[in-house]
Amino acid sequence: MKVLVLNCGSSSVKFQVIETSLEMIEANADLTLARGAVEKIGLSDSRLSLDVPDRKPHQEIAEILEHRAAIERVLKVLVNPEHGVLGNVAEIEAVGHRVVHGGEKFASSVLVNPEVEAMIEECVVLAPLHNPHNLRGLTAARSLLPGVPHIAVFDTAFHQSMPPKAFVYGLPYELYTRQAIRRYGFHGTSHRFVSIRTANLLRRPIEDLRIVTCHLGNGCSMAAVDRGHSVDTSMGFTPLEGLLMGTRCGDLDAAIVPWVLAMEEVTLAQLNAMLNKHSGLYGVSGVSSDMREIEAACATGNKRACLALDIFCYRIRKYVGAYAAAMGGLDAVTFTGGIGENSPLIRATTLAGMDFFGIELDEDANRNAPRGKEVLVSRPGTRVAVAVIPTNEERVIARDTVRVLGGVMPSFAVAGTDAPR
Ligand code: ADP
Repeated sequence: MKVLVLNCGSSSVKFQVIETSLEMIEANADLTLARGAVEKIGLSDSRLSLDVPDRKPHQEIAEILEHRAAIERVLKVLVNPEHGVLGNVAEIEAVGHRVVHGGEKFASSVLVNPEVEAMIEECVVLAPLHNPHNLRGLTAARSLLPGVPHIAVFDTAFHQSMPPKAFVYGLPYELYTRQAIRRYGFHGTSHRFVSIRTANLLRRPIEDLRIVTCHLGNGCSMAAVDRGHSVDTSMGFTPLEGLLMGTRCGDLDAAIVPWVLAMEEVTLAQLNAMLNKHSGLYGVSGVSSDMREIEAACATGNKRACLALDIFCYRIRKYVGAYAAAMGGLDAVTFTGGIGENSPLIRATTLAGMDFFGIELDEDANRNAPRGKEVLVSRPGTRVAVAVIPTNEERVIARDTVRVLGGVMPSFAVAGTDAPR
């Protein structure tokens, strides 16, 4: 079946057309027929780009003022006889939507109906920067493609299996019951995908494995995946918590926030921007938020770039230890995301000298790990496997769409929570 995957941001709509089916998922053989994006929505020079394998990339510049118009343009280019990949819009049999926040309402992907749309709307308060745009795209796509099923896939859903001891903060409990302040975690589609692929690579059932997954991109998070279930993750109520990221600070003594407000001449909004946009690799190094540039600067002796790199790896290493303890053991560590997939240096620095833990990198395999491939970079026979797995969130969304429609995934899942109310 051909699935259109949509990921709607504040000023962009990213899309892919993926050919998939339950059999193709089993064989890991789903095909991306086209991918692209509409960017700068709301401006007079919005840009639509379309990439089709083995063809020259196609671009259009035009005024696209809102998400509905953007999705109309996407559908139009997909059926364009010269540039497109579909004979007819009716070839799209389902649409999969990325939705950032499902709160405590969604523990898996779900077939969208008016009730589900209303529930996603209720989660807007938890992700005011993301959910409104996701929802806008969802509503527009449902009205443009009314005859096909639409499936919502949530970044948070995979982590709904966390136990209360992992998701309740040490704050007055009323902040949880009244304001829904708790750890939710993000990047769930990626953590789920790469943990399943790791089990596949190891030719072992995921039900036997305790895997620590490291999603290291601009945003970075880790998860403890215990026999297929997320039992802890490093991002929290928002994506700010946990690892050092491109521009986010990650773990922090909460007392720093009121302290900075009192001591520095910053407003709350400025402080928020400081923590989210001016911290992390960028804030520590003063060089860049981009790991390639940090690595290059450190190699030429820039001390702050080296420090940023050290903090980055040290935190990942601490979480590996913490999550192994949380799961009572460790069978695999998996790296993914732009940094995790492409930086042998980060993988090697993070796991150096962890043979006491059963982790031994194969230096050659790590250095020469082929791009875009699922590979093991640990020494053969070591207790803990180390894997590099390219993530593909769009593919997970397409797969979930097929699974929900095929009845192999519950189509309506309201998460239960064990936490006392
Ligand atoms: P996003 O989270 O926006 O999807 P990506 O997963 O593409 O981001 O990751 C972007 C990060 O990956 C950037 O910090 C970039 O520098 C880093 N990266 C990409 N290629 C390499 C590489 N060869 N070595 C080190 N870092 C890399």
